[in-house]
Order: sequence, then structure tokens, then C-alpha cells
Amino acid sequence: MALLPWHQEPLTRLHQLREQGRLSHAWLIDGPAGAGKLAFSKEVARWLFCAAPTQQGACGRCQDCHLFEVGSHPDWLLLEPEKKLLKVDQVRELIDFAQLSNQRGSKVLVLAPAEAMNLNAANALLKILEEPPPDTLLLLVSQHSAQLLPTLRSRCQRLSLSLPEPDAALRWLREQGVKDAEKLLAHAQGAPLKALAMAEDDTLAAQDAMLAQLDALLANSLTAVQAAKACEKFPLQTSIEYLLSICQALLRAVQAELTPPAEFAPLWERLRQSGAAATLPLLLHAYQQQAQAAYKVAQAPNNANALLMLEALFGDWVRLRERLRRAARFL
Ligand SMILES: [Zn+2]
Repeated sequence: MALLPWHQEPLTRLHQLREQGRLSHAWLIDGPAGAGKLAFSKEVARWLFCAAPTQQGACGRCQDCHLFEVGSHPDWLLLEPEKKLLKVDQVRELIDFAQLSNQRGSKVLVLAPAEAMNLNAANALLKILEEPPPDTLLLLVSQHSAQLLPTLRSRCQRLSLSLPEPDAALRWLREQGVKDAEKLLAHAQGAPLKALAMAEDDTLAAQDAMLAQLDALLANSLTAVQAAKACEKFPLQTSIEYLLSICQALLRAVQAELTPPAEFAPLWERLRQSGAAATLPLLLHAYQQQAQAAYKVAQAPNNANALLMLEALFGDWVRLRERLRRAARFL
């Protein structure tokens, strides 16, 4: 991926520091999800390795740029969690790598996300921060930097990335050929990289299908089995994630008497017309819990049966509709 437009300014800052001989050896790259912290770290590496770097970044033509591009630059190491944790063995591996002599110039070592380190790992990393090997840049990528040991934080310079302005984000998404950029960016809470990932994995289609089935089931124009078949082709996790966000939006609407987001408004209207609105909070809450349980199963590595799980969830949704109707009869 080329340098993201909103990363230009922070990269220029690093470039200037390097020109002045003031580039620190350890950086904490923090910022919200979707700001592209890891992508930025890779750009920093590419720029540092490049034989002809400018403040616009790496040249993209030299041998170092090429080696990095194809993933075989010998001075690059990225540590990512194994089973959600960065363990002390991994950090030791990083330290060993840091002690080797550099193959081509400078080394770049990245930990992402740094808050995945357990205490032993963090303590091991402190050593290398206290005695940094020459020509080595260490980048700690973090979304929750407050969770890092204060001693780690204090030994790093901080560089905070933020999300781009909506206009810039939309322009960039359209340049990537994303249709529905506006809608996707809203779904991704303004994070363009997340919006791009959603576009790439059919998220919108999955969400539209989910919403349409829930509405048709309330209208009683479809069976749970038919609804499940319509959604089966999409990633199960994506579908249930969306179902959970629907539940949450509806619950918030019913509890705080707010209007739900526009995309849920038709479903919300139909739900309220389905029966006794007073019973809605309880029923929605119970449904949300069923969906949460299903989500856990969908996340487990042993492939869940998507069709059966969707059938069960849509069946529960039909029962919610029936309970609403029955409750209305007693009022
Ligand atoms: Zn280059």
C-alpha cells in the first residue's frame, strides 16, 4: 500500500528529525483503530531502508524498496501476538534479532499491538530500550497506550496518528474504487481502512441481507429457514456482528426513547407496530443475549454450521415477534 494521505504529515516530521540527526530510536505509534498505525509503521520502515528517501517517503525504485515490497528485507521484524498475547519468548527473539549485525543499513523492529505484551515480555523489552543497539528503530504500535508500562512509555517518543477528516477519507476511499464510500465510512465510524476492509469482504451486502430478513420475518412474509438460506453465503461472524449492532441500536432507541439510525428506522417502525411496545426492552435484551452466545460459537475455530445457527437466530426473532403480539392481546 502506498503512503496514506493522512500519514504524509507525520512522516515528513520524522524525515525532518532524521535530517537534523534527532530521530529517536524508539517510538510509540498510537491512535484510534483504523487510523492505519501498522501501515504507517511499514511506511516508516520502507522510508528508513530506502536508499533515496525524501520527505514524501521511500522512492519505491531502489533495491531496498523492492526487498521490502516483496517481504524479504533482512533488517525488518514485525512481532504480532500469538493467541492474542505477545509473549516473552517472542520479545527475546526480537532482542536476539536486534543484536545481529545489520545486513543493509538500519533495522526496524515493530511490535503490534504493544499492549498485547504480558508483564514478562514488557520487562524483557525494557532492556533493549535502556541499551538500544545502534542503527535500530523500535516502533510500538498501540491503540490503548495507557495499558503499557509507564517505564516503557517514558522511554519512547510518542507519535499520535488520528483519523483523517471525512472529506479526505471519502476521497481516498473513492480513489481505491470503493462504491458506497459514504455509507461504509459511516459504518466504520470514520475509519477509512476499516471501511475499505468492509468493502473488500462484502460486508455491506451481508448487512443488507440481514436487515432485509429481519424485516421480512416481522412482516411474516418468510420462514426462518428461508431467511437463513438467504444469508448463508456471507461470513457468519459478519452477519452476527451486524445483528448485534442492530440489537444495540434498537435497545438504545427503546430505552432512551431516541430515534434509531436511519438505516434501522423501517425495522424499528415495524417492530413497534408488531405488538406491545412495553415488553420490547425485555424481549430485545433476551434476544441480544442469544445473539451474543451465537457470536461466541461463530468465533470458535471449529467451523460452526452457519445455516443451522442462522436458522436458530431467525427462529428466535420470529418468537420475539409472537411474544410481542401475544402481549398486546392482554393489554
Ligand atoms: Zn527506495
